Amino acid sequence: MISFREQEGLRYLSFSIFPENVTQAVFTRHGGLSPDPWGALNVGGTVGDDPERVRENRYRSFRVVGRDPESMYDVWQVHSADVVIANGAHPRFNNPPELKADAILTDNPNITLFMRFADCTPILLHDPVKGVVGVVHAGWMGTAKHAAGQAVRAMQHAYGSRPADILAAIGPSIGPDHYEVGPEVAARVQHAFGNRAADLLLPKETGRPYFDLWAANRLSLQMAGVEQVQVAGICTACHEQDWYSHRAHKGKTGRFGALIALS
Ligand SMILES: [Zn+2]
Repeated sequence: MISFREQEGLRYLSFSIFPENVTQAVFTRHGGLSPDPWGALNVGGTVGDDPERVRENRYRSFRVVGRDPESMYDVWQVHSADVVIANGAHPRFNNPPELKADAILTDNPNITLFMRFADCTPILLHDPVKGVVGVVHAGWMGTAKHAAGQAVRAMQHAYGSRPADILAAIGPSIGPDHYEVGPEVAARVQHAFGNRAADLLLPKETGRPYFDLWAANRLSLQMAGVEQVQVAGICTACHEQDWYSHRAHKGKTGRFGALIALS
């Protein structure tokens, strides 16, 4: 089950798979102060929006879930499968992050992991046994690089997590109904998952392949040993009034935020 909460004009999604001591939210675009095409809760700093508005939007997002904005840890998202272990919060809130990576893990309750999305898949992770949380950014490229699986393996190495203990949630992203891909992407998916699995991950509704990012990331997590996966099943392009969609808005759009923290 997913549920939506509304506070101070912000509307955000939470997953029932995570326990109460985990603060987690995927924010819709509602409740911020940016004008169109970023309207309204844009938290992306590299999409042409005014940095002061982005800063305020991020502050609002953190405040509404009771997290200190200064606890934010983010990375420069580059469609890799690289994982960062966060020990201390990012020192300069709202400055461009320096580390390039697409997954962040921490066991520090004073850190809030934060990422930005517009069609790529947000994946939240929690190991309740070892007390670890994680966030992953996976578009087609990160998905084909098994970014989600790599984050699980990093949890094993850094914290001794058992994959069977890990809880995972796949948030809103562009859905298989809207995500037509070219032959090069299809070939990368086949290489990453094998031809038989790729047939299911690349449904051909109109004779051309569509990529199912939700199924692919669930499979990537399962291949890494994760058994408990919750999928929001919300397509950003179908619901562009609620979420930013790079494809539906032809690149002129904002970024919605996803955060997770131990509390
Ligand atoms: Zn759709």
